Amino acid sequence: MGIVVQKYGGSSVADAVGIKRVAQRIVNTKKQGHDVVVVVSAMGDTTDELRDLAEQVTPLPPPRELDMLLTAGERMSMALVAMAIAQLGHEARSFTGSQAGVITDSVHGKAKIIDIKPGRIEQALGDGAIAIVAGFQGVSQDTKDITTLGRGASDTTAVALAAALGAEVCEIYSDVDGVFTADPRIVKSARKLERVSTEEMLELAASGAKILHLRCVEYARRYDMPIHVRSSFSSLEGTWVIPDTEFAGEEMEQAIIAGVAHDRSEAKITVVGVPDKVGEAARIFETLAATEINIDMVVQNVSAAATGLTDISFTLPRSDGQNAMGALARLQSEIGYDRLLYDDQIGKVSLIGAGMRSHPGITAKFFSALASAGVNISMISTSEIRISVIVDEAQIDAAVQAAHTAFDLDAGEVEAVVYGGTGR
Ligand code: ASP
Ligand code: MG
Repeated sequence: MGIVVQKYGGSSVADAVGIKRVAQRIVNTKKQGHDVVVVVSAMGDTTDELRDLAEQVTPLPPPRELDMLLTAGERMSMALVAMAIAQLGHEARSFTGSQAGVITDSVHGKAKIIDIKPGRIEQALGDGAIAIVAGFQGVSQDTKDITTLGRGASDTTAVALAAALGAEVCEIYSDVDGVFTADPRIVKSARKLERVSTEEMLELAASGAKILHLRCVEYARRYDMPIHVRSSFSSLEGTWVIPDTEFAGEEMEQAIIAGVAHDRSEAKITVVGVPDKVGEAARIFETLAATEINIDMVVQNVSAAATGLTDISFTLPRSDGQNAMGALARLQSEIGYDRLLYDDQIGKVSLIGAGMRSHPGITAKFFSALASAGVNISMISTSEIRISVIVDEAQIDAAVQAAHTAFDLDAGEVEAVVYGGTGR
């Protein structure tokens, strides 16, 4: 039997009882004959608490020291899980990200994995031990400093390790039973997906579904690593996120729409009165790129013929909003735009499904469902398998519910149980 990588989120290891429950699950998997590698997140809200603590000491913690502090959360969990496994009579060895060979670039707070050298993990498995790895962290190749991979990135540690070890599957455990057709906190009748393609999962994660970290899905897709998303609080089968190729030839059976995702983390900036000439948009977005800000949707209005001016609107993470406004304000004399508008009372609602490719009329049905629910659309963007709209923040829930019902996604009876309440 092959290697199984299991990742347990913060709500699964929130306290001693949780840690013992998880240890039992790990031991059971080991007893079935698998080599087991476990990736853990920090207990409960530890990461937030550590960050708050840092902010009480200084409003601007040095990024290197903040990473050093935050990685302590995962170290607590890994040692406690290893102890709980020892108590059950099995050998477990815990490793920090650095010890596990997670090599990153040196961008503190959002480092990227550039290589994994899991020699010590393989050695532990070779000795018959269970390896426990601290998620969400690594070591910089250049500076040798400890780095973190971004909030929620223990998922990414798990899938990257699974790929490097050639594991059979990467199991991601949280406090919900899998991937649902919408957030069960908004749509009570959301349905659990048995299977979803990595392509669709990528769009769901990028559109705000928090169940999996976006980069972990990118890894899974690149390395064809199946992910099983499930709850550590139940023994139910969860959702299998599987390579797109396994759906080939099954288009007939595959649901047209996989789900509806929403995102409350974006803000919208409008640059009003931009001269409509070559190079202006490039200048605006180069400025934003230079400040490492990721842009999501972009809309440019038709130029008003009389004035030769146009408006450019885009969305970006709210957390980057003030930075972006500052950077653009410094550009005003250079570009000569009229003014900037900032709106963070917005939300994004996205409809995702590979079946859109071959079914016409999806956009019309989506928009008329929103219209019937009285939801006004302020921006639209699409990909081959996704339609996203920006709506008023107060209308997100109504929009998600309306789309879910319009595409017949509602389950007959309530399936969604949120065991811990955080979705981590
Ligand atoms: N503990 C980290 C966080 O809260 C990483 C994770 O949970 O995946 O973001
Ligand atoms: Mg998570």
